Order: sequence, then structure tokens, then C-alpha cells
Amino acid sequence: MTGREPAATAPGGGVEPASAPIVVRALVARGTGAELRIERVRLPAPGPGEVRVTIRAAGVCHSDLSMVNGTIAARFPLVLGHEATGVVAEVGPGGRLPVGTPVVLNWAPACRACWWCRRGEPWLCADTTAPTVPRGETEDGLPLHLTLGLGALAEAVVVPESAVVPIPAGLPVEQAALLGCAVLTGVGAVGNTAGVTAGQSVAVVGLGGVGLAVLSAARRAGASPILAVDVAEAKRDLAIAAGATDFLLSDDRLSKEVRARTEGRGVDHAFECVGRAATIRAAWRLIRRGGALTVVGMGAKDDMVSLGALDIFHSARTLRSSVYGSSDPDREVPALAAGLADGTLDLGVLVSGTMSLDEAPVAFDRLARGEGARWVVTLD
Ligand SMILES: [Zn+2]
Ligand SMILES: [Zn+2]
Repeated sequence: MTGREPAATAPGGGVEPASAPIVVRALVARGTGAELRIERVRLPAPGPGEVRVTIRAAGVCHSDLSMVNGTIAARFPLVLGHEATGVVAEVGPGGRLPVGTPVVLNWAPACRACWWCRRGEPWLCADTTAPTVPRGETEDGLPLHLTLGLGALAEAVVVPESAVVPIPAGLPVEQAALLGCAVLTGVGAVGNTAGVTAGQSVAVVGLGGVGLAVLSAARRAGASPILAVDVAEAKRDLAIAAGATDFLLSDDRLSKEVRARTEGRGVDHAFECVGRAATIRAAWRLIRRGGALTVVGMGAKDDMVSLGALDIFHSARTLRSSVYGSSDPDREVPALAAGLADGTLDLGVLVSGTMSLDEAPVAFDRLARGEGARWVVTLD
């Protein structure tokens, strides 16, 4: 339900035109470890260069959980969600997108003017102030913080136009939502960051939504073998369905098992999709001399990774991170959406189930227990 507030009275005694704040239902965290609740929140009318998007589907990503459980420092009250698709419902003054345009939300909108944007690295845009500014307020009048500047587990968001990417109409919404985080990140990590090529060997550590997206991108890149690694045996079937050639449990035999499948060398590329020092170290040990580790998981500030100085030199390995798949969402989301439209990209395996906004807290419990791939909230 999306209720428009009574229009404010203008100074002249008349009634303000069309644009006014609206009240929507949203999934809100009030503090670290606090119970998640659906609350009614007030969103401002879109200002110049902004749009209001009615959300159709939003995935629950591990980074949302990290905001709630204290892994990532967050400000509260916080609307969760940053991986979503919806439809432009209202455009602020001077906006260019027509109402009704289907879009995917982009949590790293690029300014296109800073040093990084100008040298073609928009995922590292230096204009990072926007996501930290509160927008809207709770019913009891507190400024509202938004996960990664979006707060997409809600009936609607009000965001800069640069934070939406138009997509074709008619795509399955529960799959289109994933283009905004897990899939763009996974596909980009494999193609843009690591540059995996056909015939290279790959290991993927951590099989949440992003890890599974990495597996399927590695398969499309022609990698072989593709070794999927997780602590939960329950991920085996999902991993194979997503594109893994082998599933390996993360235990003390892991390094040996990987070497047994790579002529004793280790893999060309490992992807760490957890964001923990222990799994970064584990993934590091799976790579061959001269291979590369790409860290995709977002970890905690004080979780220190220790590597031997001689090991770093002698192994000649590369350690790097992939922020948002080193991608330009304005270019790459439409390409992925086109794949969904023509059937060359099927993300069905990544969607473990859909649920209503009221059921969203359940998705966080399942994520915390490591169950399934992506749980997606759908809204009518
Ligand atoms: Zn995410
Ligand atoms: Zn920039």
C-alpha cells in the first residue's frame, strides 16, 4: 500500500502541485541486532535530478545482513535493501526518464566528473557522499538512513536519476532485481576484474548469491574445472546447477583436493565471496604460483589478513578486490537485461524463493543460517 499524504498548503493559500512526500512501508532496522520490522516511513518528493521508483522486487543480499549484525558499521534507523528492480513513478523537475520506465537500481551511481570516473573506473567514483545523507523520516520523526543510498526493501525509493538504469519491460522481476548487485558483481568479478578466459581453472569460496553468480559467469567464460567451495554440504546441488564442475567442502583437506584437480598446481583464479580473513587466506592457498585471488566479499574493518612476506614474493600471486564487479552499471546492466530478455541469461537457479515484504525478516534468518541462494521480496 502506498498512501499519498494530504497535499501541503502553499504559502499563497493554494495547494502545492502534484509533488508531495509520500508514506510507504519499508523494512527498517532500529539498531545492531535489533528485530527487523516493517514500518511506515515518509519519503520526500523527488527533487531536481531525482526520481521516485515503485519497487517490484528486491533481493536480500549478505551486505544487508552485515549492516544489521554489526559486521559493517551502519547508522540507524536504517531501511534495508540495495538490490532491486521497479518502475519510475514520479520524476523531479528537469528529469529525463519517462514515468513508467522499468529500471534496476544502482548502488554506486557515478558522478562522471571525478578523476576515477574520467579514467573509466566509475565503480570507484569519489563522489561517495550521497549514500550517507539521510533521506525521509520515520513516523516518529527520526531521519531515515538508507542502505547504500537506496533502502530498496520498501514499497518505493526516492533516488538520484543516476542511481537507476533503464531495462526492457516484461523481464521476470525476481531475476531482474539480482542484476543490481549479485549478478553484476559476480559477472564483473569474473570478466572485468579477473579476466577469466576459456580453459582456465577457477575456485569459488563461499556460495551465497554472489558466489553462485560467479560460478555461472565462470561457466559462461568457458573456465574448467570450476571448483565450488562452501562449509555447507547443502550447497552442493545449487553449486552444480549454477555451473560448478565439482563441489568441495571447506575443511583441512581443501587445498589437497584442489591440487588433485589441477595437476598439483592450484587454480588460475580463486574468488573469495565471503569477506572474512580466514576465507581470504583459505582461497589464497588454493591458487597456483602466478595465479590471482579476487576478493568479492565485503568484510569487517578489524578482520586482519596475515600472509607471509616470503609467500607473497615466492608465490608471485596477485591479490585484488572487485568492487561492484569493476563494472559500469549504466553499460553492463542493460547488456545483462538483454540476455534475460532473449533467454541467453537464466538466473532462475539463483532465486531460491520469493516472499512478501512482511515476510522479509524471514529471509534474513535464512541468510544468517546460510540457506539457499537469493531470497527475493516481490511487491505488486
Ligand atoms: Zn549486495
Ligand atoms: Zn565520479
